Amino acid sequence: MNTYEITYLSRTSGEPVLSKVIIKTKALVNILKADIDQDRGVMVINIIGTPEDARRVVQEFKKHDNVKIREIQRKISVNRDTCIDCGACIGLCPTNALNFDSKAKLEIFEDKCIQCKACVRACPMKALSIEE
Ligand code: SF4
Ligand code: SF4
Repeated sequence: MNTYEITYLSRTSGEPVLSKVIIKTKALVNILKADIDQDRGVMVINIIGTPEDARRVVQEFKKHDNVKIREIQRKISVNRDTCIDCGACIGLCPTNALNFDSKAKLEIFEDKCIQCKACVRACPMKALSIEE
């Protein structure tokens, strides 16, 4: 999993926090979502590697007062009894966390999911849910 939400409380210093953390830890990081303006914003990242790699990245982030980081632990799941594999959810997913497998069945890649709920709202069968 290793998915985290970073909240920028203030960007007035212009400090490139993410870049500094990556340089210091040499971590591989995928940015799954970024909604940031001049003052504040939110980013969702996936840290590629072991839980220890993720722990080092989190510790490095915590040295910066102007950001908060928290792990995203909720999981997207599909009710196989009600899903009709219509694919309506797939095109809406901003991170390609949904796709068809080789048998045209819905497949979920949990590590890519940023819990935006676009698929949950769109599913005509209410087959998708996110654990709260
Ligand atoms: S929109 Fe709902 S029914 Fe259609 S493939 Fe996605 S989960 Fe299944
Ligand atoms: S909640 Fe659904 S649409 Fe949003 S990222 Fe996760 S799988 Fe994709």
